[in-house]
Amino acid sequence: MNEEDKKGLTRRSLIKGAAVGAGVMALGGLSVKEVKAVPPPKKWDSEVDVVIVGSGFAGLAAALTAHDAGAKVVVLEKMATHGGNSIINGGQMAAWTSKVRKQRSDLEEDSAELMYQDMMKAGHNLNWPDLVRTVANGAPDALNWLVDLGVVFPPALIIQAGGHSRARTHQTQNISGSDIISVLYRVTQEKRIPVLLGHHVEGIVREQPLAGKVLGVKVRTKGKTSYFKIRKGVVLASGGYSRDVKMRTKEVPYLVGEWLSTNQPGATGEAIRQAQDIAAATTQMDRIQLYPFADPDTGILDKPALIPFTSPAFAIYVWKNGKRFINELAPREAIASHEAFVLKEKPTWTIFDNASWPNFTKNEVLTNGIARKRIFKADTLEALARAAGIDPAGLVETVKKYNSFVDAGVDKDFGKPRFRAKIQTPPFYAVPQWPAIHHTMGGLQMNTKAQILDREGEVIPGLYGAGEVSGGVHGGDRLGSCAITDCIVMGRIAGKSAAG
Ligand SMILES: Cc1cc2nc3c(=O)[nH]c(=O)nc-3n(C[C@H](O)[C@H](O)[C@H](O)COP(=O)(O)OP(=O)(O)OC[C@H]3O[C@@H](n4cnc5c(N)ncnc54)[C@H](O)[C@@H]3O)c2cc1C
Repeated sequence: MNEEDKKGLTRRSLIKGAAVGAGVMALGGLSVKEVKAVPPPKKWDSEVDVVIVGSGFAGLAAALTAHDAGAKVVVLEKMATHGGNSIINGGQMAAWTSKVRKQRSDLEEDSAELMYQDMMKAGHNLNWPDLVRTVANGAPDALNWLVDLGVVFPPALIIQAGGHSRARTHQTQNISGSDIISVLYRVTQEKRIPVLLGHHVEGIVREQPLAGKVLGVKVRTKGKTSYFKIRKGVVLASGGYSRDVKMRTKEVPYLVGEWLSTNQPGATGEAIRQAQDIAAATTQMDRIQLYPFADPDTGILDKPALIPFTSPAFAIYVWKNGKRFINELAPREAIASHEAFVLKEKPTWTIFDNASWPNFTKNEVLTNGIARKRIFKADTLEALARAAGIDPAGLVETVKKYNSFVDAGVDKDFGKPRFRAKIQTPPFYAVPQWPAIHHTMGGLQMNTKAQILDREGEVIPGLYGAGEVSGGVHGGDRLGSCAITDCIVMGRIAGKSAAG
C-alpha cells in the first residue's frame, strides 16, 4: 500500500470514528424538529435534471458539462449579477502544460507530479491527495477546454508565481477572471441554459432529514418561496465564506469583522450550513487564507495587487525601514503572517525596476496604477522611498545587498531559491500591500467524482460540489492560481457526475 492509500485509509477511518459520535448526537439526542433540513413540499414549482447553485467558475463549468451530457440544467444565483468571486478574480490559472505553454520553448519542463508536489507543500501536506491528483492531472485539459471555448491566455503572460517551482501560471489577456466568466456565460446563453439571478437557495430537500436521496432545493426570490425538484442532482458551486464574520470567527476567533477582505459580499457560505443540515461532512474549516498583497486601504485585490504575487523572482518586499522581511518566493501564509503578526504596521511594499515589469505585468496596469496613486514611480531609489513613505537609506542599502546576492546566486538573508534579475534599471516602482481575508480552504467533504460525503464518509445521493464550497483540495494553504484550476476541473467533473 502506498503513502497516499494509507493517508486515504486513515482519513476514512477518522471519518468513521468521528461519525460514531456524530451519529449518536444526530439520532439519539435530537428531535426531528431540531434538525433544520427542509421537508419536501406539498407541491414542487419546477423540475429539471440538474440544479446548480452559484454562477462562478465552478457553477458555469458544471452547467455546461451537465448540459453537454444531455441534462436539462438551471443555474440559481442569489446575487443581482452573475460571476461571484470568479468575475473579480485575477485571471491566473495554473497548468503544468497546455496548448499555450507548448508555445514557450524557454520554459523549464514541468509535470503533473511537480504541480501536485507544489500544491501539497503549500497546503502543509494536509490536502486530500486524491483530490490534489485529480486537479493536477486535469489541469491541462481544463485550460485547453477554456481556450477552445474562446478564453485568451497569451503565451507571453505565463509566469512563475509565488510558491510554484515552475513557470506554469497562465494569465488571461486582461489579467482578470472576467475574461473567463464572460466566455463561460456567453456559452451558457448560447446553449440556452437559464442563469436565474436573485434566486437565493435557502435549503436542500432530502427524502428524510438525514438520509436518502436529495430531491431538490428551496429557493427565495423577491420575497417568495419556491421549490425546484431535481431528477438527477444538485451541484453546490456556491463559493466560500470569507465574508461571513460569524462563520469565520467560529473557526478562527481572531478573524474578526475589522479585517478587510478581497471577496465579494455574497461569499457567505450558507450553502455549506444547509448541506450540514442534511448530514454533509466538512473538512478543514479553520483553514482561511490571507492574501498578503491587497490594497492596504480597501482590501481589494485590484490589478496592482497582483504584481507582488506575479513578480517574486524579479522583486523584493520591504517594510517601512526599507528592509526585506522574507524570501519573496515563500507561500502566501508565511508572508501574510509575517506582515500581520510580526510587523503589525501596514503597509509593506513590493519594489521592482523598469527592466523587469514586462516579465510579469502589462503597461496599462502600471500606467493606471500610477495615475491613481496605487503604484509609486521615481527615477532613483531615494526618491521612490520618499514618495512611498519608506526609509530612503534603508531601501538603498537593501537593494545594494540584494543585488550582491543575485551576483553571488545566494540569498544569505532569507534563502530565496531563485532570482531572475538585479534591481538596477530606473525608473523604480513601489506597490503598497497588506493582508486581507481571501480564501476559505475548508468546506464540504467530497470524493474525486465531486460527490458530497456525509459524516460517515458515505456519498449523499444526488448531492455534488465543486470549487471553493468544497474542502481538502488546498489543505492548509492554497497555492496561488490553483483555485481556477480546481473550479474548472472539479466543476466539469461535478456536471458530468450529476448528469450521469
Ligand atoms: C479578488 C480575487 C482574486 C482572485 N484571483 C485568483 C486568481 O487569479 N487565480 C486563482 O486561481 N484564484 C483566484 N482567486 C480565488 C478564486 O477566484 C475563487 O476561489 C473562485 O472564484 C471560487 O469560484 P467558485 O465558483 O467556487 O465560487 P464563486 O465564484 O464565488 O461563485 C459562487 C456563487 O454562488 C453564489 N451563492 C452563494 N450562496 C448562494 C445561495 N445560497 N443561493 C444562490 N447562490 C449562492 C454566490 O453569490 C456566488 O455568485 C481570487 C479570489 C478573489 C476574491
